[in-house]
Amino acid sequence: MEICYLGIGSNLGKRSKNLISAINKIKSLKRTKVIKVSRFFITDPVGGPAGQGKFLNAAIKVKTNLSPLMFLKQLKKIEWELGRKENVFNGPRTIDLDILFYGERTIKTKILTVPHPRLFFRNFVLKPLAEII
Ligand code: AMP
Repeated sequence: MEICYLGIGSNLGKRSKNLISAINKIKSLKRTKVIKVSRFFITDPVGGPAGQGKFLNAAIKVKTNLSPLMFLKQLKKIEWELGRKENVFNGPRTIDLDILFYGERTIKTKILTVPHPRLFFRNFVLKPLAEII
């Protein structure tokens, strides 16, 4: 099993309910175990259209046997199930799930880059991550 860290955020609808639902869905994924969840942090939106609401962000530590691409696929499915339909880059979203680290792997494909490329510039990711790493 590999240790992974995920970033999770929401700024549409009931934000804490969205985070909790996503965490519960991750908990119920096969071959995956949630080990730690950070506190939820209220953060200012970075980039994207002006006037969007503040985010609620958290980080999660998990152990998984799913391959990186299979894990990403499951996370995208969870985003879809929770109603994420928005397409505006950096715009408001019901739920956003990002793979920050997957073990010690470096991955660079069209659909997946790990460590997450924008992780190191974003306090809204680093702060919750620092709490659990
Ligand atoms: P987002 O808008 O944050 O949901 O991400 C859009 C796309 O980024 C996804 O559909 C993924 O294919 C891609 N992506 C690349 N690297 C990652 C990563 N480390 N975690 C999550 N998504 C990623």
